[in-house]
Amino acid sequence: MTRTVYVNGDFIDEADATVSIFDRGFLFADGIYEVVAIMDSKLIDFPGHMSRLRRSLREINIPEPMSEDELLGVIREIVSSNSLDEGLVYMEITRGAADRDFVFSADLKPTVVMFSQIKPLVENQASRDGVKLKSVLDLRWARRDIKSVGLLAQVLAKQAAKSAGAYEALMIKDGHVTEGGSSSAYIIKDGVVVTHPLNNDILPGITRACLLDLVAANEISLDERAFTLEEAYAADEAFITAASTYVCPVVAIDDRPVGSGTVGPIVRRMQQLYLENARATAV
Ligand code: PLP
Repeated sequence: MTRTVYVNGDFIDEADATVSIFDRGFLFADGIYEVVAIMDSKLIDFPGHMSRLRRSLREINIPEPMSEDELLGVIREIVSSNSLDEGLVYMEITRGAADRDFVFSADLKPTVVMFSQIKPLVENQASRDGVKLKSVLDLRWARRDIKSVGLLAQVLAKQAAKSAGAYEALMIKDGHVTEGGSSSAYIIKDGVVVTHPLNNDILPGITRACLLDLVAANEISLDERAFTLEEAYAADEAFITAASTYVCPVVAIDDRPVGSGTVGPIVRRMQQLYLENARATAV
């Protein structure tokens, strides 16, 4: 089955979709992206993803190519033309195409591309049984808060995790956990949820933001601080979050069981709280 995708104003068959070899996204990774989850054909955590998209554009001086309403219209068209019930919508905005030169002119027309992916996000083995992580050095650039398409460090990190039989990489900077290869990372110790604070070392996860609101509303203790890999090994429970995995339990890190080595009660509660809220706020 082929998908209908969006390229610069047109909804077309994926086989006919093309972007210039001079596109700065291709030549320099000069662009940003967002991934929005779809549940029951509705968008999850949409306002958060839109504000992060606008912030990413602003931080690298790419003009907004369309309004939030227009973007929402394109996403809805992608969802309906592909009859997407559950999965992801990927959107990428690059600075545009120009003859190769590091320096860019301000009048470039951004390239906008969007496509959908079918993926079971609610019922799947990872969220049921938990996953293994593999620690790797965090080799990314210093502006990890921007959702840049320059993802080579994460490609290599996640491939190393896969080769070691793990589901996701756990990225380590100066002995401390920053986040997952494409997810926010958390441990739970003595009932306290611990996760890296927001700064340039991590991407501000939208699933993280929603979950932390729920943590506060449900009077679960939270400590936003960097934690070490040793603390992660010694945690009672652990989990990761992302639009592409929601709340996903972690049962082992570097082949050492986390807590009992099975999914713990606080993570189960987080999954429930997140899914309930996601359903209630989907648009
Ligand atoms: N951290 C990184 C490095 C990511 O790439 C992602 C998602 O792709 C996340 C965290 C989770 O962000 P979100 O919850 O907005 O999907």
